[in-house]
Amino acid sequence: MYKQLINFILKGGRLLDPFSGLDGQQDIHVRDGAVAAIGTDLKADGATVIDVKGLIVTPGLIDVHLHLMNGLGAFGVDPDIFGVGSGVTTVVDAGSAGHSLLTVFRNYVTKNAKTRVLNYVNLSTLGGVTGPGYSILADPRLIDEEKIEKAVETNRDIIVGIKIMATGGALGAEGLKPLARARKLGDNLKLPLLVHIGESWTKDATPVHVGDVLKYLREGDIVTHMFTVHPGGLLDPNGKLWPPVRDAKESGVLMDVGHGLHNLNFDVARKVLDQGLHPDGVSTDGHRGNRSGPVYDLPTTMAKLMALGFSLNQVVEMATVNAAKLLGRTTELGFIRVGCPADISILRLEERDWEAVDSQKGTIQARQALVPIYAIRRDTIYEALPTMRP
Ligand SMILES: [Zn+2]
Repeated sequence: MYKQLINFILKGGRLLDPFSGLDGQQDIHVRDGAVAAIGTDLKADGATVIDVKGLIVTPGLIDVHLHLMNGLGAFGVDPDIFGVGSGVTTVVDAGSAGHSLLTVFRNYVTKNAKTRVLNYVNLSTLGGVTGPGYSILADPRLIDEEKIEKAVETNRDIIVGIKIMATGGALGAEGLKPLARARKLGDNLKLPLLVHIGESWTKDATPVHVGDVLKYLREGDIVTHMFTVHPGGLLDPNGKLWPPVRDAKESGVLMDVGHGLHNLNFDVARKVLDQGLHPDGVSTDGHRGNRSGPVYDLPTTMAKLMALGFSLNQVVEMATVNAAKLLGRTTELGFIRVGCPADISILRLEERDWEAVDSQKGTIQARQALVPIYAIRRDTIYEALPTMRP
């Protein structure tokens, strides 16, 4: 459900914009798709008033890791389900498309979505055509730098990086060679690498040590699944961070949650957080198989981080300004500013007890829930889809 309005005021909400430091009751006037004014007690002056009293108003939320080619493989999901249908204005596909599917992605996914849809191109030509259990990088012919470069150049506006699966299952006989190729390609294209860690799919594969993976990463690259319990994660057998993890973080490598079906484990998260390593991005790793649990949507994943000790302001910061940084899109995303296109999320913070469940069915007690109400892109207000949230 959505409605288009050329002139409206969001009235009485708590505007929480970590980019500008605003946190307080402020109205927002949107005219012709752009923010016309921000202030206390703005006069309606003919604008339609939308009452958001008691609700949280934030810059458009950004979910930096999902699988969005609806119909592709076992995972592809319609971007508007985790996007505007979940109070989120920007979603990013993590490697569904290799170079040969990139233009298909742009024409059928990005162009048809109501949500802004960006893309990490897969290093492997196969991308998400097969399941993640296949050794998609084990055959050197499935990495074609020249074709990737060409495909990226014609789709630059939607491309934010290169996705690579750093697991024994995906790399197979090639070992770390594909990582070296990804590094070089990233440097040539000036794009960050988004690297999946955690041997969650191929149980008989020899896991890749995270220290070996991090040798290939540098400032701005992203490790996703930072709280995975599977082999190849951030912790040593004693529950301590492997030393290269701390070094990588200090040198500017970014860490993303990537909840997913397998990779948010509360015990691991507590140990990682207790040692001072915090996420730079929060993401669902949303796909067709986890919408109805354990993931649900980005606001629920944010609320799980709140149950782990983060504040509302911190998780909103992760999902807005920090996510924009992670995507290299700081001039267009992650803030609400007069004169800029309206890109706004509206959430309800509920004070209630609920049981948060991780990917291994571990539970923690949560005291606050976050429920999406609207996503606003320019002149259109999208109502969140009803879903069975915990
Ligand atoms: Zn994923």
